[in-house]
Amino acid sequence: MTVVAMGMPAVRTGQPSMDGRPDSPLLIDRFGRVARDLRVSITEKCSLRCTYCMPEEGLPPIPADELLTAGEIVRLVTLAAHELGVREVRFTGGEPLMRRDLEKIIAGCRAELPDIPIAMTTNGVGLEHRARNLVAAGLNRINVSLDTVDRDGFARLTRRDRLDSVLAGIRTARDAGLAPIKINAVLMRDTLAGAADLLQWCIDERCELRFIEEMPLDADHEWARANMITAEELLAQLGRHFTLTEVGRDDPAAPAERWLVNGGPATVGIIASVTRKFCGDCDRTRLTADGRIRSCLFSDQEYDVRAALRSGAGDAEIAGLWRGAMWNKWAGHGIDAAGFVPPERTMGAIGG
Ligand code: SAM
Ligand code: SF4
Repeated sequence: MTVVAMGMPAVRTGQPSMDGRPDSPLLIDRFGRVARDLRVSITEKCSLRCTYCMPEEGLPPIPADELLTAGEIVRLVTLAAHELGVREVRFTGGEPLMRRDLEKIIAGCRAELPDIPIAMTTNGVGLEHRARNLVAAGLNRINVSLDTVDRDGFARLTRRDRLDSVLAGIRTARDAGLAPIKINAVLMRDTLAGAADLLQWCIDERCELRFIEEMPLDADHEWARANMITAEELLAQLGRHFTLTEVGRDDPAAPAERWLVNGGPATVGIIASVTRKFCGDCDRTRLTADGRIRSCLFSDQEYDVRAALRSGAGDAEIAGLWRGAMWNKWAGHGIDAAGFVPPERTMGAIGG
């Protein structure tokens, strides 16, 4: 059965087609990929309003009874690791720090899964007050999103004057044992000139910087292929300040291509999701804050695992739903194709 709500992708509540699927417990798809990296969005709320992601007023709130609870998240993450071969989990949003029970979610997953790396992608606002407790709960890694170290530029881009809090959060997290911290940066025309300063700041603070090409997942639908900062343009900009030597990818499923900066050991990465897409090596599966499985950022289909969970489905039934959702994953996004239509859910509503 398919349910379509205004502004949302088609939500499937029945069992997805398993046509042609070999018998495997893993999250395989028709194109030979295996999803082992689970991204869990835990909220749509955010303390910032990055122009390439959120609308000025924020996303429409998810009603409390539609949000997955801490216990439900722990159950689904545990099931994904035990039954489906997931090997790493990353919490994201929205902004994961907006959930007061984040430490409880992480501690719950850690208790069930002592050996699975638990990571978080965060904007870093307020992180300085929680980094130590998050580490104590079992968090292993973080990526902090920081697009510029220029205070005015940061305030324009995020529509909030919170740069100091983000920088303090990064330093506290590093000192709390989360090093090496990865910094994610999405560049816009306005922040391109500050890319070299950002890279120098990351080198000085022993953080690993990775630039991400802007994707058509902004709430204001202002993304335009002709305006986005491509990997090529960024490399030319950085090349005016640093000597860059290409070293490639750590492994095929790692989206970032890396360059040594001034001969190393510092490196900079670029995730060229648009101009050098890597869908053929994608190993991700996604769970939204309202309990839908998505096989791709750009999917137009979602599978309602919350309904299954709350109607008393056992682990085997939920695992079957998840396997089916991933079996039907498409080959890749078609951003460069004529007639490309961006997904209804924006980045903040999916979880990047
Ligand atoms: N609030 C957290 C943060 O900013 O890190 C987690 C959620 S955010 C949606 C996750 C990542 O998605 C961030 O690194 C952000 O820069 C990236 N992102 C958001 N919108 C994007 C877009 N349109 N294109 C590419 N990356 C985007
Ligand atoms: Fe919030 Fe992260 Fe989106 Fe920025 S990128 S608006 S911090 S969810």
